[in-house]
Amino acid sequence: AEADRLDHKRDLVEVFFVTSMMLLLLWAVHSFLLARQPVVGLFALHQAAYTLFGIAATGYLAPLTTTRTPYLADWLNAFLYLAISFTSLLFCRQIFKPYRPPPLLMRGLTLLPFTFPILLAAYVLGYNAFAITGNAIVIRITSIYFVVVAFSLRKESTPKRRLLQIFFVSIFIINAVFWLAKGSDWIATKVNLTAVQTLVIDGLVIGALFAMILHSRARLALREAHVAALDLAMVQKRFEIEQELKKQYKVEAHTDYLTELCNRRRFVDLAERELTRAIRFQRPVALLVIDIDHFKATNDTWGHSTGDLVLKRVSSVIRHGLRDEDILGRIGGEEFAALIVETGGDEAFEVAQRVCTTVADACVSSQGGDQVCVSVSIGLAELNGRSIDIDTLLREADEAMYGAKRAGRNRVFVNKGVATEQPRW
Ligand code: GH3
Ligand code: MG
Ligand code: MG
Repeated sequence: AEADRLDHKRDLVEVFFVTSMMLLLLWAVHSFLLARQPVVGLFALHQAAYTLFGIAATGYLAPLTTTRTPYLADWLNAFLYLAISFTSLLFCRQIFKPYRPPPLLMRGLTLLPFTFPILLAAYVLGYNAFAITGNAIVIRITSIYFVVVAFSLRKESTPKRRLLQIFFVSIFIINAVFWLAKGSDWIATKVNLTAVQTLVIDGLVIGALFAMILHSRARLALREAHVAALDLAMVQKRFEIEQELKKQYKVEAHTDYLTELCNRRRFVDLAERELTRAIRFQRPVALLVIDIDHFKATNDTWGHSTGDLVLKRVSSVIRHGLRDEDILGRIGGEEFAALIVETGGDEAFEVAQRVCTTVADACVSSQGGDQVCVSVSIGLAELNGRSIDIDTLLREADEAMYGAKRAGRNRVFVNKGVATEQPRW
């Protein structure tokens, strides 16, 4: 009955060991797939090897060995025993890396894993005892070596260097206790560790502690990724703001602040483009130069701010008298220019005439409440199938405008132009 009870207890511990190791392995695989950190991947590999080693050590793999392959279980056992010291070297090397150990010690960590193929070859060639004893020595050397490395780390990282030192010293002490227990009959009588209890301490507890270290490192990586993403978003935002400002500057550089119409430069640019198009496709186009009459007197009588009000009103009246495709700009203090596209002859004259009468009909109230009305003189010039530039057309319309002034203002004068590339004036 007592033997049954012990067996039962042993089974429970074994099931607990295998299940927990599996969970740790799942966690490692999962977090490796999430963050793709090499150190976590190597830990997963180590965890897989150790779990298999544990299962093999508890004898569960024995039924798998048939009479034809009597040594399979032994081979698997030995291979996994060699493999776990190999994988633990690989992933501990990765753990140490961010703490920048001295290059010489790091070189040792690179060389130690090469004992794995050597010992494996020895085992395959039949030097079983040599391979197993060799591996036990490698494990001891490694566990001391890790302590030495842990105390010579030159850089702080996550988790803290101090924690790593405590951790590797603890592992060394645990291992040392096992070695002593094995080597000394006296301790063996006091502390009677079963194989599976050793596995639980050596594999599970240490594995879990490693998992905690790796978890805090994975969290750091996540945090860094988060910060990087924020930085990126900020750069992106700054870029957008800059673009927006640039756009705004451009608009401002193109726009007259008072009337919000195109300024002279912008008008000339747009009109030039439209003119080129009209010439290429032989389309009619007309240019109006519109100048407010006696505006100096308006300013003198009603004040400059009322003058500004008039300017705004006049520009809005002109804008509404034109189509959206037509280009309108303020090209001087009280002087506007409009390029009327797809329009010529009588139709263009009618547009100009309409602008002239609507401006004369529109008045603004002065601060004193008086009605302030202005008129405009308009000069009209047309392309008429010629190949001329915008300056020429502007000059012609300007001349016509002065004609309108001379003839008594508040009227439209047309400069027909002639079919020549040379300016007439
Ligand atoms: P004309 O009929 O011959 O064109 O006479 P005018 O007084 O309109 O012509 P002139 O060129 O002598 O005067 C233009 C005036 O326009 C002078 C200036 O005070 C006024 N002016 C120019 N720009 C602005 C502005 O932005 N605001 C206001 N309020 N007045 C302006
Ligand atoms: Mg004027
Ligand atoms: Mg003027």
